[in-house]
Amino acid sequence: MYELMVRRQFDAAHHLEGYPGRCARLHGHTWLVEVLVAGDELDESGMLMDFHELQKLVEDVVKDLDHQYLNDLDFFRQPGRETNPTAENIARYVYRRLKASLHKSGLKLVKVKIWESPDAWASYGEG
Ligand SMILES: [Zn+2]
Repeated sequence: MYELMVRRQFDAAHHLEGYPGRCARLHGHTWLVEVLVAGDELDESGMLMDFHELQKLVEDVVKDLDHQYLNDLDFFRQPGRETNPTAENIARYVYRRLKASLHKSGLKLVKVKIWESPDAWASYGEG
């Protein structure tokens, strides 16, 4: 099995609903998104997938998050633990959107990792 990983970062603001601390207040982060895909078959060029192609797919998702107030976006607007804009839920949001766009490539989306700071990340994958 081969694996590929690409990274993109974005800046955005959020606040966490129901959080008993300073993250309940409006603040921002520079989030780093890491996307890991896997597959068994290489193409004619010896690539699992062109890095640029994967970077473009990731960019298409990340551009919708960049310089946004995440709590205002449809996905995060509903109250609840599945939609609070935590690193975990951002990872799931990116994963679900990429899964749809990677479907036709035949590659497996292994996980999406969201770094909220240089010392802390959360990831999401579906088995
Ligand atoms: Zn935060």
